[in-house]
Amino acid sequence: MSEYSNKQTVKNNNYKFETKLIHGGVNGDELTGAVNVPIYQTSTFAQVVPGEHKGYEYSRSGNPTRKALEELIAELENGKYGFAFASGLAAISTVLSIFKSGDEIIISNDVYGGTFRILDKVFKQFGIKYVQVNTSDLDDIQKAITADTKAIYIETPTNPLLGITDLEAVAKISKANNLISIVDNTFYTPYIQRPLDFGIDIVLHSATKYLGGHSDLIAGLAVVKDEGLAEKIGFLQNAIGGILQPFDSFLLIRGIKTLGVRLDRHVSNAEKIIAALQASGDVKKIYYPGLETHPGYEINKKQSKNGGAMISFELTEGHDINTLFRNLHVITLAESLGGVESLIEHPASMTHASIPKDIREKAGLGDGLLRLSVGIEDSEDLIEDLIGAIEKSRI
Ligand SMILES: *Cc1c(COP(=O)(O)O)cnc(C)c1O
Repeated sequence: MSEYSNKQTVKNNNYKFETKLIHGGVNGDELTGAVNVPIYQTSTFAQVVPGEHKGYEYSRSGNPTRKALEELIAELENGKYGFAFASGLAAISTVLSIFKSGDEIIISNDVYGGTFRILDKVFKQFGIKYVQVNTSDLDDIQKAITADTKAIYIETPTNPLLGITDLEAVAKISKANNLISIVDNTFYTPYIQRPLDFGIDIVLHSATKYLGGHSDLIAGLAVVKDEGLAEKIGFLQNAIGGILQPFDSFLLIRGIKTLGVRLDRHVSNAEKIIAALQASGDVKKIYYPGLETHPGYEINKKQSKNGGAMISFELTEGHDINTLFRNLHVITLAESLGGVESLIEHPASMTHASIPKDIREKAGLGDGLLRLSVGIEDSEDLIEDLIGAIEKSRI
């Protein structure tokens, strides 16, 4: 590799996580001393004679701004190789392209809707099979393994019910059965949970959410430790071509710098809102892995820094949901999550509307369920907004 790329691989592994957020990956620009990595807005790179160049040939295969981001996420996840894609689903689709006809993948029951869709509507056409299980139950995972099983794909916590799966146990089961373990770490980010540390093989992100953090870009990431997997994913990233553009790579590096301070505030706000919801007589059930009453509380505590900033809750009977939404002024009704602004959504009619009603209700996604992505606004304003709207929505 070129001189330039060699400089990029210098790791400051002794730094603590918060410092890595600012100084990890590539630091600034060697050429000019700029403290930020420049946006290399170029499709191609000059060669002296064919094959003799400074480490870059064509920006689908590699671009210095994207490379800086890829090094950064690899460091943050305690991995070795990072890959940046045009969206979370581009990252997921590229990684799933490792598999071939006849292979079967075990996925969580309430895996992200887009992940289910790409498996069910696209990869199934090519003979890649999936089976859905409650991955919080390790026996269910074991029972689902067949001679065709090649991977276990999980989210912990899941969306929107925030179910927790034991990462170490999944990694062990995978190793014992020669499977690839894959974790979508979007909801927690490496600030809260680093699945590779527990033996997981591949970490995926929709960086659109907390990593970007400002609801202003769509991006996806993949991280691995294993060189063989890195080669496969690197090949597919270039072959399929769903790469992240230089400007978006820059935006994502910029967002990641404040991940720690943002998440601290997201989480402390979430904890205050939960206390307010618990005190209100209008809430039947709260789903939050940081609550001791959550069935995955102990496992979550073992593998994660805290319970994150996503809350799902069910109202008691006798509320009109649309009245609630109309009375919110700080919190916005919208899909997506992980931005600085608080967003609320109604899974049954929005993010999970494509799931047939009977299956949805059996999975616990009833019409009274709300999902809140707690932002970093003032917690008192958020509580007043939310509790006020809930009270006004009483029928
Ligand atoms: C949003 C999301 C995705 C899809 O990512 P995009 O960036 O929207 O393509 C995948 N997994 C999870 C858990 C998500 O929340």
